[in-house]
Amino acid sequence: EARSRGGDSICVADPHLRDRAAQRHQIESALLRGIRENEFRVVFQPQFHISDGRLVRFEALCRWNSGELGMVPPDRFIPIAEQTGLIAEIGRRVLISALQEAKSWLQNGRRIGLAVNISPMQFMRPDFPQSVAEALAEAGFAPELLELEITEGIFIRDLNLAIARIRELQRLGLSIALDDFGTGYSSLSYLQRMPIDAVKLDRSFVSDLSIDSATVSMVQSVLAMARALKLRVVTEGVETTEQLSILRELGCDEAQGYLLGRPESAEMALQRVLNSPSETTKPEAQLQRTF
Ligand code: C2E
Ligand code: MG
Ligand code: MG
Ligand code: MG
Repeated sequence: EARSRGGDSICVADPHLRDRAAQRHQIESALLRGIRENEFRVVFQPQFHISDGRLVRFEALCRWNSGELGMVPPDRFIPIAEQTGLIAEIGRRVLISALQEAKSWLQNGRRIGLAVNISPMQFMRPDFPQSVAEALAEAGFAPELLELEITEGIFIRDLNLAIARIRELQRLGLSIALDDFGTGYSSLSYLQRMPIDAVKLDRSFVSDLSIDSATVSMVQSVLAMARALKLRVVTEGVETTEQLSILRELGCDEAQGYLLGRPESAEMALQRVLNSPSETTKPEAQLQRTF
């Protein structure tokens, strides 16, 4: 093929990059159609208290069955949606429909929380707090049961603005968790400045976790750091009973992972909520078998 000498034609000449650019373009136009045709769904993955096995909340995870591309995993389309700004609309719908489901848990007398992932672009939009307040009011959901999962990406551009934004949202009554914790550049002094409520230890730590691995002491120091800052610690990606018992030993607060429950449909999540003990059930009857 012709190799032109012009500016960005360098990319075009590289077959790998060219494929990637084409793929991005393909996903971008499929996303536009996805928004138009309402192709996005939400699934729910449970999170549990490690000490007593109690169901604490569900994390809402976006699923996209594209009419053009079939099922596309979030790791493929979320970054593109973020860069093109389409994430604002997709994220808005995820929040609204997840809150709609969570409302039914509350209506059944269960105080089960909801965690929703918010991308940096969505989080920093001027109208974001207002849209969260409206979505909460519309659904009639308890703000203190909502947790927004953010990533370090929001701190890169303007740290002070991000901090102000977090505080503004917390005033609505909800909590903020820092997702994928440990994968980025957060140092102790940096973390100290973020007025967050919880950290979600990235699953790369948990997957390396076994009794004799060096990861144990790494997780230990992360937990010590979190404790010093009075942050709740959620661990994601718990797949084995060994990992769960190490995390319990280390004093981690909450856990999420395939061992405990995969992402599931709204119907299955509601069923799980209904099977979970209500406030009046005796504590000893709440212990689940896995724990
Ligand atoms: P995340 O927020 O860190 O979500 C956890 C991911 O780990 C989910 O992948 C979940 O299915 C997966 N996971 C949970 N337990 C296990 C386990 O035991 N083992 C393994 N191997 N994986 C486990 P998923 O659903 O593919 O989502 C990937 C990422 O896409 C999420 O990572 C999040 O960053 C992003 N994402 C998903 N939905 C949304 C959304 O609505 N908005 C935004 N902004 N991002 C989203
Ligand atoms: Mg998350
Ligand atoms: Mg995570
Ligand atoms: Mg992650």
